[in-house]
Amino acid sequence: MEVLYSSTRDSGKKVTASQTILKGLADDGGLFVPDHIPALELSMRELAGRSYQDIAYEVMRLFLTDFTEEELKQCISRAYDSKFDTEVIAPITQAEDTYYLELFHGATIAFKDMALSILPHLMTTAAGKNHADNEIVILAATSGDTGKAALAGFADVKGTKIIVFYPKNGVSPIQEKQMVTQKGDNTFVVGIHGNFDDAQTGVKALFNDRELAQEMAQAGMQFSSANSINIGRLVPQVVYYVYSYAKLLEEEKIRDGEKINVVVPTGNFGNILAAFYAKNMGVPIGKLICASNENKVLYDFFVTGRYDRNREFVLTSSPSMDILISSNLERLIYRIAGDDAQKNKELMEALGRTGSYEITEQMKEQLADFYGNYADEKETSQQIRELYESTGYVLDTHTAVAGAVYQKYKTETKDDTATLIVSTASPFKFTRNVMNAIDGKYDAMSDFELVDELSKIGNVDVPPAIEEIRTAPVLHDTVCDKTEMKTTVKRFLGIVS
Ligand SMILES: *Cc1c(COP(=O)(O)O)cnc(C)c1O
Repeated sequence: MEVLYSSTRDSGKKVTASQTILKGLADDGGLFVPDHIPALELSMRELAGRSYQDIAYEVMRLFLTDFTEEELKQCISRAYDSKFDTEVIAPITQAEDTYYLELFHGATIAFKDMALSILPHLMTTAAGKNHADNEIVILAATSGDTGKAALAGFADVKGTKIIVFYPKNGVSPIQEKQMVTQKGDNTFVVGIHGNFDDAQTGVKALFNDRELAQEMAQAGMQFSSANSINIGRLVPQVVYYVYSYAKLLEEEKIRDGEKINVVVPTGNFGNILAAFYAKNMGVPIGKLICASNENKVLYDFFVTGRYDRNREFVLTSSPSMDILISSNLERLIYRIAGDDAQKNKELMEALGRTGSYEITEQMKEQLADFYGNYADEKETSQQIRELYESTGYVLDTHTAVAGAVYQKYKTETKDDTATLIVSTASPFKFTRNVMNAIDGKYDAMSDFELVDELSKIGNVDVPPAIEEIRTAPVLHDTVCDKTEMKTTVKRFLGIVS
């Protein structure tokens, strides 16, 4: 059955999947959502044993119904290839009694690669299908990992340009080095004086700027989004939940139909929303455990039903989760409001006006499958140290937040359901914090000494993505105020008004 998409703030106008991917964000500022979540057509038993690419096709064809089989298969085979350092694409590692789904084997060693290695292909295919001749300008705000993954995905892709804004003092040294050394004539990287929310709010404002859109159109360009608000990011993320279940079944770690819990280190709520979609497609997922760091806006929301961003923004050792406005939560709000765009719009307007909103009791009841908790900095480093000491397995700081939250969940509920922790980054991306968690003595070493030491103690090779930046020259050094984002974009694009 065809799936069409409409805005979370106006369900009147329906568009196809390819149009949705091209546009990124709806004109009214809402997010595109599918008019229904399709059910899987093959059983888990039938999916067990299939390759990642096969399962990707089985899942994505149900959402992206206006792509032909050939188009979709070509996008998939171009995305999930030798850019990944393992043929299985998303390996599952068992440590103690828990499964870790490692989503960091792509080009930039963070889970953003799972979607951003396919998004450029989906987007250029979508442009072709819709006879859109404009050059596509990708505008992205990043808390560290999206930026590099999007740059790597779009670099030198014909018919596209990409501009990435990151918080100048809010990303790890390795993350920053990865971005500012990016090659490709069509890439632009800008640090802003501000935090991730400032970058994201600024980017959203640029998307909604009618005057700028007109100037761009005259110059033969249009914006699109590579942030997780683009449905072309969300759909590829559903794939690995289906794949994981099929894999655990294939390896007889679980019985057919047995529920598993998933724990997701969360920031913008994209990854865990994909798990929610997978559950709604029929994957036997029990609890969706939403793990936050000290920016625990989502934990408070799940406990109280009130979303409140009015609080101090905390810089933590898990910067990709330092977020107070979780954009993708809007898609869940829309859903638990009974696909009521008007109701959702009211809440989002309240969020814009006052920084907070409260959902109804009836909406809250529909969140029963979610469990939210958070881990502070001490609990996070303790999790890294303890797991390393007992198993030798080294977690990155984001995955450690998830691990620590899972410990709290188990203590609280005594639930012993098989559990999948989603590992969102390689520890090599956050070496200093990871190594300091294991032993304070490492703090005296330089960033790249730490890389070599981590390789030694963790018994894992240094990923090529890290080797690459050791000596790479800095190619981007633009820094601007958050009020200067528009002028910066216009300058890059050569638009003078
Ligand atoms: C982006 C990111 C997250 C948060 O994912 P969301 O989909 O924004 O919730 C967590 N960990 C890492 C390493 C990330 O890059």
